[in-house]
Amino acid sequence: MTFRELGARSDTLAGWLDFELGDNRAPIAVRGHKEPEMLVAFLGAVKSGRPYVPIDLSIPEQRAERIIHTSGATKVLNPSAIDALTHPAAMCRPRRRVEGSDPFYILFTSGSTGEPKGVVITLANLEHFVAWMLSEQRFVEGGEVFLNQAPFSFDLSVMDLYCSLATGGTLVSVTKEDIANLRDLYDIFRHRGITSWVSTPSFAAMCLIEKTFAQPMLPALRRFLFCGETLPNDVASALLDRFPEAEVWNTYGPTEATVATTSVRVTSDVLAKHSPLPVGAAMPGTQLYIRGEDGARMPDGERGEIIIAGPNVSPGYLHRPDLTGNAFFDSPDGHAYRTGDWGRERDGFFFFEGRMDSQVKVNGFRIELGDLEANLRALEGIADAVVLPVEKAGRIESLAAFIVETERSAGSDFERSARLKTRLGERLPTYMVPRKVIFRDSFPMTPNGKVDRRKLAEELAPTR
Ligand code: AMP
Repeated sequence: MTFRELGARSDTLAGWLDFELGDNRAPIAVRGHKEPEMLVAFLGAVKSGRPYVPIDLSIPEQRAERIIHTSGATKVLNPSAIDALTHPAAMCRPRRRVEGSDPFYILFTSGSTGEPKGVVITLANLEHFVAWMLSEQRFVEGGEVFLNQAPFSFDLSVMDLYCSLATGGTLVSVTKEDIANLRDLYDIFRHRGITSWVSTPSFAAMCLIEKTFAQPMLPALRRFLFCGETLPNDVASALLDRFPEAEVWNTYGPTEATVATTSVRVTSDVLAKHSPLPVGAAMPGTQLYIRGEDGARMPDGERGEIIIAGPNVSPGYLHRPDLTGNAFFDSPDGHAYRTGDWGRERDGFFFFEGRMDSQVKVNGFRIELGDLEANLRALEGIADAVVLPVEKAGRIESLAAFIVETERSAGSDFERSARLKTRLGERLPTYMVPRKVIFRDSFPMTPNGKVDRRKLAEELAPTR
């Protein structure tokens, strides 16, 4: 799709939305995968003054419906049906576009009670982020080809999407089918002239298994941009070896602060000095600091919670003043977000040191264990459920669910587990479904009557 087509088709859609919806400014949900029309839908929505809510097809119907309901969206756009949405009376300019502090997009992430929560990102948030990326990365105007690997319902995709739009670049999307068939994926890498790689470190680590994944496969590649989870030293080091013409960047940040807030170029020097790698220094105009338990700023080298304050911080969670009040606050440095990440500052860099709560990252996907447990408990026949991460060499490899049934279900443990996973897969995306299911008659308890998670974790120990 050319820029001209994207402009014209999104203008038409914006006119239609304005005509159809009048003063109703509710978000527009967009349900699809990697169709180019996803972009038409996103831009059509914001050009008509309404934020969009991207919902990838990997999110099952039940959860998608909950997201649509929670967002208050009155329209759900399907990319394949967008061009049919036109009306002669709608061919005029919409009355208003999304501006400054208006919500631009709303991304739903895992919430600890089983309900996904919507992070509101304004146009001003997005502009601050994109301006930083453009000034730091010095993309070639009109000359970049970005890899789009993350589904549009994850904010990592915002990095490649808006950097490509803002620089007149090309966006090359890989679908979940391409990723499932590695030969197709490597064909795309060979033939599309990708210059800027955006993905989670896990995705690059998977590609590295292929021996020919190296500069000759991606001759135009000049940079890897990573975000979303720890970038392991060995992954960064292998990439520097195999791609002598590409830079490797580690960036860090939560969806609540618009994609990424810190960055560092991982050179062989940085690699030699640091293990684990730093997540970098804060973007200009935004403050990052470490806060101790008493709320005071911690001095250099001390551990505490990472706080982000500045123009990239979201106003909060959609229709959830309770959650917003717990995680966001106003500070002299601007609107601030408590990340729930442990960290420390040292040698001018920030370091990420794990989570303070039970949010985990599995292959770069953000999951609240409480979300999974609530969805398991909501299944008929399940009395109680505890989900724990299975770690190997300090990295979360997969999840394990401990289950107590109201009545023992029929069949072997393998059959029971397969059935449970299928049922859970109807409520949650595949990446959230635990790999291992362990049935128990009851859970061990701590003296104060809580499930003894530590004891359960010991059962997973041999695989750690
Ligand atoms: P998400 O909202 O899905 O981007 O997840 C945000 C969380 O991912 C952060 O709060 C961190 O816990 C983790 N995270 C993001 N970037 C990094 C990174 N570069 N290194 C380690 N953890 C990261």
